[in-house]
Amino acid sequence: MSEATPLEQNKCGCIKRRIESGISAVGMISASVNDDPTRERNCRASLLQLECDALLQLASIVDVSSLQTTIKDVLRVVLPNVECVFVYLLEEESRLRCEDPPHEVPMEGKLRDAVNQQKRLVCVGLSPSELHEKHRSALTTPLPPDKRVLIIPLVDLEEAMVISLILICCKAPTEQDEQNLNVLEKHLTVACKRVRNVQRCFKRPHGHQSHNAPVEPKPQPEDYRELDRKILQLCGELYDLDAASLQLKVINYLQKETQSQCCCLLLVSEDNQQLFCQVVGDKVLEEEISFPLMFGRFGQVVETKKSITLQDVSQEERGLLSSLLGFEPSSMLCVPVVSQARGQVVALACTFNKLGGLRYMDADEHVIQHCFCYTSTVLTSTLAFQKEQKLKFECQALLQVAKNLFTHLDDVSVLLQEIIVEARNLSNAEICSVFLLDRVSHELVAKVFDGGVVSDDEKEFRIPADQGIAGHVATTGKILNIKDAYSHPLFYRGVDDSTGFRTRNILCFPIKDENEEVIGVAELVNKTNGPWFNRFDEDLATAFSIYCGISIAHSLLYKKVHEAQFRSHLANEMMMYHMKVSEEEVTKLLSTGIEPVQVIHPNFAEFVYTPRSLSDDSTPMGVLSMFEDMGFINTYKIDLRTLARFCLMVKKGYRDPPYHNWMHAFSVSHFCYLLYKNLELANYLEDIEILALFVSCMCHDLDHRGTNNSFQVDSQSVLAALYSSEGSVMERHHFAQAIAILNTHGCNIFEKFSRKDYQRMLDLIRDIILATDLAHHLRIFKDLQKMADVGYNQKNQTHRSLLLCLLMTSCDLSDQTKGWKTTRKIAELIYKEFFSQGDLEKAMGNRPSEMMDREKAYIPELQISFMEHIAMPIYKLLQELFPRSAELYERVAANREQWAKVSNKFTIRGLPSNNSLDFLDEEFELLQSQGAFGDESHRMNGCLDDDCNKHHQ
Ligand SMILES: [Zn+2]
Repeated sequence: MSEATPLEQNKCGCIKRRIESGISAVGMISASVNDDPTRERNCRASLLQLECDALLQLASIVDVSSLQTTIKDVLRVVLPNVECVFVYLLEEESRLRCEDPPHEVPMEGKLRDAVNQQKRLVCVGLSPSELHEKHRSALTTPLPPDKRVLIIPLVDLEEAMVISLILICCKAPTEQDEQNLNVLEKHLTVACKRVRNVQRCFKRPHGHQSHNAPVEPKPQPEDYRELDRKILQLCGELYDLDAASLQLKVINYLQKETQSQCCCLLLVSEDNQQLFCQVVGDKVLEEEISFPLMFGRFGQVVETKKSITLQDVSQEERGLLSSLLGFEPSSMLCVPVVSQARGQVVALACTFNKLGGLRYMDADEHVIQHCFCYTSTVLTSTLAFQKEQKLKFECQALLQVAKNLFTHLDDVSVLLQEIIVEARNLSNAEICSVFLLDRVSHELVAKVFDGGVVSDDEKEFRIPADQGIAGHVATTGKILNIKDAYSHPLFYRGVDDSTGFRTRNILCFPIKDENEEVIGVAELVNKTNGPWFNRFDEDLATAFSIYCGISIAHSLLYKKVHEAQFRSHLANEMMMYHMKVSEEEVTKLLSTGIEPVQVIHPNFAEFVYTPRSLSDDSTPMGVLSMFEDMGFINTYKIDLRTLARFCLMVKKGYRDPPYHNWMHAFSVSHFCYLLYKNLELANYLEDIEILALFVSCMCHDLDHRGTNNSFQVDSQSVLAALYSSEGSVMERHHFAQAIAILNTHGCNIFEKFSRKDYQRMLDLIRDIILATDLAHHLRIFKDLQKMADVGYNQKNQTHRSLLLCLLMTSCDLSDQTKGWKTTRKIAELIYKEFFSQGDLEKAMGNRPSEMMDREKAYIPELQISFMEHIAMPIYKLLQELFPRSAELYERVAANREQWAKVSNKFTIRGLPSNNSLDFLDEEFELLQSQGAFGDESHRMNGCLDDDCNKHHQ
């Protein structure tokens, strides 16, 4: 390889580029194995450069001695630490001979094994007996542990024989090396074959060899040498990356050598179904022309691999040729081009109109065959490369389609229109229609047509879902590729006959959702750049339909969600309308001003007071009085009418189950007030936190339906659908209702808050309401206990949050801190509510928990368990944090005692038929009269209960 001329260098550059892209296409650059990707990349890049140079060298060799040198060079580049390489080349069809020193592959041993098995062999050394003495020092077993001997036979697949054997000593090859070697092996084989062919051609005229080669050239030796010179020149020029440019050069060569007016190559498609043509004469066609292979003589050429002339083809085929060429051919020679790799016909080389009006002779056929002997590989690999590129392009197009489709999810019509345009463009169809399956009417509906949307329901197009081609596809869910519409039994000609449109071919494919259910059908009509839709279009349609299916399904879902949101919005509006507080109600509530708490009851601010003794009508004023007494109205500049409206609205936001009703919310709020008044909460919490706690108490069970969280989930209620993923279903709903009320016009008592305080307030309310889920309480109980142990720190944000949760729970269960009659009455209400949920669960076919099952629940036991495990620990903790709250714990404990005492009276499960536990009070009163409660009895009990409070009103 001496200095190259600038022209040659330029040429080499082009060849190199081709090899580079060829290498990357076959995967020589595989996934990085190194930790450092950059270094690895650089390393690979420079190696690649070396490999390219080596392969380039290899591609240009035509003689034996340079072949041997180059093989060695190339292997040194590809394999690690190559110590030596020996090359055996096939001579006289049976002897594999090495030049240095001259000897042959021995008849026995690993070398011979590799030849016989035609397989690469890696070993740790060879036995001295099969090695030439000059090779022994380097190759005899055992080699150092990291060294290996590689024996590589190069096999000519067509002749099924080893044409060269390569013996190498190098470092143990990695997986990557092996892969590289696989690629290199092919290049080496091609080079050896080429050199052999050249050798044969040169030797044969001199009578050295004679054998039956598949292509037996008859012309004179001088012609051959001339032809070979020309072919070598042509081969040197075949460096283009696109198949069309390569074809131009080959065709130009053929036109010249066969003295033809025009030549073209009819390429056989991958699926053997079509012939396509990209270049005619010196023209590259703007769009490739393709036609079917199934009929006529051209099909036979592909099958029989025998040449034909113009006399052999039918009139129809002549017409086809005339339109392809643009002139009437007067003579033709069509020669099959056989792939060396696959042994199949990959193209038909056609020459037309032999100049001088002569007929095509055998010599012409030989010229053509001789030409493709050297050029078919380059042509086929470039075609394959182009196909890869086309695939890549199509993939990118599909991704773009997906992107386009997914941006139109908000409107199905627009989406469908987008689908039609994309499908038509991807497949080069004349027309595209998309039908959606209407499962109710069992019809296929087209609202969107190529070029527009029909908004009018009357004009939409409907066909039965099991008729015609689209119906067939909708029913079977399988793609249908119809090459000739008129001959298909399912095709209905009526529409064509009335419109004058001519349907030639159809590709109809189903669009399925994620569950593989057919949701629609797309129909592509008349391929514009081919005789019909090909396999490639089918694959594309299949991929495309997946995107369509997902996007349509999502679009429909999106629409549903939108509707659901709208409905929910409407329902909320309706609810708020019915909850609406009239201005008269507000005015009436405020007419006499806010009543001081002392006026409501002298004991109103004491733990012994029972808020449930207040009448339902008086409760809104009770709330206002507490607001005023805690100084909230003044501190937060709360508008009185807004506050009144808010309180009335919250009251209306409660339903009327036995227990979780407004009276519960009122008594819980009152207990919060009691905590504020009796425990100096201001020393523990910030003002805003106390207000948040109080408002949370008011709102904490808004819109309670008398059923618990697990019931929402089991009955798959709307609330569960909304909130179950986050847990605390009901509590989230209570909070949502509280926000809805605040957002109602004229009800926002926090409207004057700064943005920051407002956000803080809502966050606090959310956290506090969520803390009313006893499951939450049980989760944080350890933390609460720990806080009590280390001592409460007001500056600690976590402590304040934990304390708020504990106070909220104390308020929620505060009925237990009242007198016996209250706790007894509350049990009545709670179990009434529980049992009706249990009844519902039974009706649903589920088994209620014991405490909800009126046939199983034993109330005293359940009450005692509840008080021991939930209520008492809470008030115990409260006592630890606030010693002044000790009386609360004591009363809860006393009530628990009482439950134990009355349990002997309690012989039934569930509730008595009158739903009343009044009979338990007889026992209580009896004990009281016997002085069982000591001196404190009056204060601890009698005064707390309803009868006692009532006469103050
Ligand atoms: Zn509650």
